[in-house]
Amino acid sequence: SGSRRCRRLEVEAARAVLGSADTLLFDCDGVLWRGEAAVGGAAAALGRLAAAGKRLCYVTNNSSRTRAAYTEKLQRLGFPPAEPRHVFGSAYCAARYLRQALPLGAAAYVLGSPALAAELEAVGVPHLGPGPAALPGPTPADWARAPLDPAVRAVLVGFDEHFSYAKLCQALRYLLRGGPDCLLVGTNRDHRLPLEGGAAIPGTGCLVKAVETAAQREAFIVGKPNRYMFDCVVSEFGIDPARTIMVGDRLDTDILMGNTCGLTTLLTLTGVTTLDEVKGHQESDCPARQSLVPDFYVDSIADLLPALGD
Ligand code: PLP
Ligand code: CA
Repeated sequence: SGSRRCRRLEVEAARAVLGSADTLLFDCDGVLWRGEAAVGGAAAALGRLAAAGKRLCYVTNNSSRTRAAYTEKLQRLGFPPAEPRHVFGSAYCAARYLRQALPLGAAAYVLGSPALAAELEAVGVPHLGPGPAALPGPTPADWARAPLDPAVRAVLVGFDEHFSYAKLCQALRYLLRGGPDCLLVGTNRDHRLPLEGGAAIPGTGCLVKAVETAAQREAFIVGKPNRYMFDCVVSEFGIDPARTIMVGDRLDTDILMGNTCGLTTLLTLTGVTTLDEVKGHQESDCPARQSLVPDFYVDSIADLLPALGD
């Protein structure tokens, strides 16, 4: 029953839970760091987990960095060394998805960051953005005459600081031209990115929704809570869900994916979620809300240190 879940992971229980796991999946922002600052004690905790022989993987919905950039950030902030293959960012996972879903030689029209383009490049998926070409006239109706690339068979939407009406037009035109033969893929649906002090900026979900609304169809989402991201980890490392812990700060992405995939879920309160929100879900008897409730919580992953000995 729901009321048994979301227990604080005290030292004794932490020893048992960690002892029966061989892999931990860490969400990044809100768990390991906030922006550019490491969460206090997080690097030490991961260092001990690595020393204890645990496999550490990183699963992030942020499509604005490459896997290589994450390994550099982990190193810069004092975390144990990670290889790019341990990092599952939504940019990399989207590239991987398109490589297997697109016919050979087909290209993706991309709304996103240079990192997203770099990950497509790395797996050999041809891609184009709006490019430097001048728009063919001053009004949106003129833009709808811009040339279309015959190779495009997918539209990919990620975090794009330069999202525009012109790009939205072009995305719609590819989707209308290709019909169901043109894939529509989004990296993630996070609706907001919280900043310090209660401020926030709109997340990639807003951009995906704009394209879905124009095209009147639903995107395939690569990131959490979709299990595709977990499946990427499984196909890379062959991990056993029953021996895997998902650590995250967000209920509707991290915890939902973990629960859906049969992992042990651990919420940390260093990010976007408060215990009151969990209580609300826990007390509801709606199954959809129950699946947002984690097995355990800690105030910070630094709280795992005592269970990891000296
Ligand atoms: N998307 C973007 C563009 C972000 O900047 C962030 C966090 O910084 C996220 C998503 C959420 O990332 P995570 O899944 O690591 O919490
Ligand atoms: Ca997070």
